[in-house]
Amino acid sequence: MAQRKHIARSLRFTLSAVYTGLFTLLLLGVMLLFRNNLATNLDVQARDDIQQSWDVLKSNLRIEHDPGQPNYHPVWFFDTGDPDEANAEARIRSVLAIADEQGKPVPENLSSTYESLGMDSPAQVKRVLASNQAIWLSKKDPEGLPYLIRQSYVTSEDRSRKYFVAIGKSFAESAALLRQFDYLCLALLPLVIVLCFLTGWIFTGRSLTPVLQIAQAAQHISGSNLSLRIPSRRTGDELDYLVDTFNQMIERLEINFNQVRQFSTDVSHELRTPITIVRGQLEVALLTANTAEQYRDAIVDSLQDIERLSQIVRALLLLSQAETGQVILQKQSLDLVEVSEGIVDQFQIPAEGASLDLKFLPKVLRCPGEFDRIQIERMLSNLLSNAIKFTPAGGSICVTLGLDGDNAEIVVEDTGQGIPPEHLPLIFDRFYRVRGKEEQASPEKGLGLGLSFVSWIVRAHGGTVEARSEKGKGTSFRILLPRHGNSVDEPRVHELPSGEAMRQL
Ligand code: ADP
Repeated sequence: MAQRKHIARSLRFTLSAVYTGLFTLLLLGVMLLFRNNLATNLDVQARDDIQQSWDVLKSNLRIEHDPGQPNYHPVWFFDTGDPDEANAEARIRSVLAIADEQGKPVPENLSSTYESLGMDSPAQVKRVLASNQAIWLSKKDPEGLPYLIRQSYVTSEDRSRKYFVAIGKSFAESAALLRQFDYLCLALLPLVIVLCFLTGWIFTGRSLTPVLQIAQAAQHISGSNLSLRIPSRRTGDELDYLVDTFNQMIERLEINFNQVRQFSTDVSHELRTPITIVRGQLEVALLTANTAEQYRDAIVDSLQDIERLSQIVRALLLLSQAETGQVILQKQSLDLVEVSEGIVDQFQIPAEGASLDLKFLPKVLRCPGEFDRIQIERMLSNLLSNAIKFTPAGGSICVTLGLDGDNAEIVVEDTGQGIPPEHLPLIFDRFYRVRGKEEQASPEKGLGLGLSFVSWIVRAHGGTVEARSEKGKGTSFRILLPRHGNSVDEPRVHELPSGEAMRQL
């Protein structure tokens, strides 16, 4: 029962039923039209035949009266020797009634067939005699067979008398033909309905197969099975479009799931390392330390690692708050030249310590706009600390500031180790770090969150960030910030030719 209910509600059933219903209506319409046409043609043909007989009758019937006698009577002038005329007379006389002005039939001119149809009342006879036009009507014999009748009158030669004359023709053959047509339609209709439903069922079934495949595939998809794809039929129709869209959606989900998975792994890894170190240090201290000094050293070391731990947690919290829209920009009117200059100044000492030449080259005197000072300073700090971290001694770092249309354009460029092209599109992801031999050896290990912050800050200001790099030669980050900001919700990462990565925010 439930299954039947389910089928009756299915799209396949509905489409087939609608298609069958429409087709049946159309067929009924065509049949009715055809039947109507057939009936009209049969009627016209019968009337033509009767009219022809009437013309023949008129030229072969006269109403005469014998000289000296008051009575008039109809006289026929058929040449019975001529087979054609004999035939015509027989045809006319088969359904014939002639009556005088009182409606009294002339005995030898009332055929038995017409009699069986019922002689017309005197009132009807009078009505016919008074009418200038022939009257057409249909009558039925006792067996129910229909006849088409034409009633009119013939006038005597002296125009003093009118005689009612009715002739007719059996309509039985035509009625039988129409009945046959009706039976044929009645017999064909259920057959056509069944056939129609079946073809509709088969075709809609075929057309809906990809939809079912999508549903089945969707049922099998889970977090661990996102590599599943629905094969495209390559027909270019709407369902193919649906399949492609669905596959693209799964692909995006797969990428997102992998990122989330990778992110969880990275977070656990980042948090586990300091926890293991702290635990190790404390265990060793517990087992080996004897003096207060030794305990103090162990606690200081542990505190340093705990500090790193809380640094990671703080950064992660802030980043996730930022990305879920919980951090709202505190925009104010700022001069970017002044803000950038201040940050570059702060980095002069670490740059000198790393034997790097750090320059600030503004192309404009002032660059006013609406920005969040703290976030802009954070963005520049992250870029500069990376540049210092990844540029070997003797290299240089240059920060330029200019205008590009209504945007402020900030470029932070270094002559450092560069980023291999395969890593470039990923550097804005959380915890992503380029892990080459040199990088692993690097004493100052970052969290891999700095560029994620840069990415969010630029996005929150409605701008774009673009990274270009050449391994061994250097890296440059170009940021465009609308000066009278608009914010955009979703980040869009644009693939650039190798050696470039861009995040449009
Ligand atoms: P981290 O805290 O490790 O610096 P970031 O998100 O700031 O994390 O940077 C991600 C990775 O991008 C870095 O680990 C580094 O491999 C690479 N990177 C970022 N800036 C530069 C640069 N100026 N030169 C070379 N590599 C860079």
